[in-house]
Amino acid sequence: MKQEDLATPNKPNWCPGCGDFGIWLAVKMALTQLDLKQEEVVIVYGIGCHGHMCNFTKTYGFEGLHGRPIPVAEGVKLANKDLKVIVVAGDGDTYAEGLNHFLMGVRGNHDVTLIVHDNRIYGLTTGQTSPTSEKGRVSKSTPTGSIEVPVNPMALAVAQGGSFVARGFSADPKQLVELIKAGINHRGFAVIDVFQNCATFNKVNTVEWFKEHTYRLEDTKYVPNDRMKALQIALDEEKLATGIFYQDSREAYDQDVPAEKGDALVDHDISDIDITESMEQFT
Ligand code: SF4
Repeated sequence: MKQEDLATPNKPNWCPGCGDFGIWLAVKMALTQLDLKQEEVVIVYGIGCHGHMCNFTKTYGFEGLHGRPIPVAEGVKLANKDLKVIVVAGDGDTYAEGLNHFLMGVRGNHDVTLIVHDNRIYGLTTGQTSPTSEKGRVSKSTPTGSIEVPVNPMALAVAQGGSFVARGFSADPKQLVELIKAGINHRGFAVIDVFQNCATFNKVNTVEWFKEHTYRLEDTKYVPNDRMKALQIALDEEKLATGIFYQDSREAYDQDVPAEKGDALVDHDISDIDITESMEQFT
């Protein structure tokens, strides 16, 4: 697969300066560097500005309901375990409506790579407080400041038994490409939360803010094989780490199905199904 193979006639419609561009670029670079075949890749999108990516990234894709891309992706993987299945979702998508699916994906260790565009705001709906916005955030939905503390996705994923937990930054494409490649190669549920700026509606968490508040784990002597140390790093909300927090090699869901170990769970041969007859039931 080459970069041009991923192009569609559509052009990105994100605001100038949006962090979505950096994540999109990193996804495309990771796919081409891994030398995957186009027909091997399925990307399932949630609803949010990130979801527009489905219109200008030519792989197999599915854009579903808000908060629900993870179970769709799990179903795709169980139907055809040879596919590389990626979820592109947002922070509102994943950590509000989809939080149950997030935790279930982590504990099931489904072989899916989850890339969360975490801009700490609802951008598509013009700037409401999101689950990762800081306490006190003033926005259209919380005009006197948000009361709740933010969701900590990294701590949740590590504590819930995550087998691959990482965080990237849209303005650090070099690191992000490596994280996405490692996530795709990881056999299990790979969580990659990605800090990104919303240039239009989040004037707090700008690119400069993220640069000032983050550091790269690769620049320390950190080894991502200790869950307690990973949790400690995840709970530090002053100095925000990027890189791989934790990784292990427990079996993925589809490898651990007792009945027919390793086989697809879903018979996807539909040649003997009369679709017209099935559809008539709903009309
Ligand atoms: Fe990006 Fe924010 Fe514009 Fe959405 S509203 S495209 S997240 S800058």
